[in-house]
Amino acid sequence: MPELPEVENARRCLIKAELPGRAFTKADIGWAKSVKTPDLEEFALGLRGGVVQDVHRRGKYILLPLVNGESETRTLILHLGMSGGLSVQPRTNPMHPLVRHTFSLDDGRELRFEDGRKFGKIWLVSDPSEVLPPLSPDPLEGGLTPQVLAKSLEGRNAPIKALLLEQSIVAGMGNLYADESLFLAGINPTRSAAGLTGEEIDRLQQSIVNALTASIEKYETARDESWPDPPRALTGWTHPRTEGAPCPRCNGPFTGTRVRGRGTYYCPKCQG
Ligand SMILES: [Zn+2]
Repeated sequence: MPELPEVENARRCLIKAELPGRAFTKADIGWAKSVKTPDLEEFALGLRGGVVQDVHRRGKYILLPLVNGESETRTLILHLGMSGGLSVQPRTNPMHPLVRHTFSLDDGRELRFEDGRKFGKIWLVSDPSEVLPPLSPDPLEGGLTPQVLAKSLEGRNAPIKALLLEQSIVAGMGNLYADESLFLAGINPTRSAAGLTGEEIDRLQQSIVNALTASIEKYETARDESWPDPPRALTGWTHPRTEGAPCPRCNGPFTGTRVRGRGTYYCPKCQG
């Protein structure tokens, strides 16, 4: 599933492809249920003529503010779901079989939304706060301080791994980077959040930022090296995701378990 580094990579790719400044001329929606707001007819009408002002990200959501005419502003919001991907391509390029939706642009190209598993979501709204869930400050923008993290974990007895996946606690976090952050911080994913010390929360906050930043840097290099066809999924984490695999730190065997149904891998020796 695309997590913060993948969505941030998608955002930077859209900017590099010079999507800002272009206007949408038409939307071809291949799976009607993907469009959450408004209804399909209004969506197609509302999108037409909208000039993309910028590409923002909030957690795992891509936001494209659009200006249409003199005053009307709306925001196209895209969520990549379980396996979605975005690209801007000339209309004449062969269509990837998993492209579900295409948004034509005024320069002969189109924004293509691949979504094989149909978990992607699309909104067109005047005010993004109408549809976005509560999201923590972005871990990459400095707002997710150890104090903010400590406050959201206060009194929560659930396993720390489960809480890291709540978008109101760490916006953009997903299963892989939650495990990676806990590995870097040396914290057992099954521990109760309320039982973490202040020092452990400091370490966890730093590890979250480090894990996400390291991955984004890998995407940065890969994007430049393989443009215009950059990779969408890189193995950006350092811990193994196989039971019994050697720990990169102590060489002892990794353990696999499930925390709230999500596959979770950790070193029982290094993550006390
Ligand atoms: Zn270890």
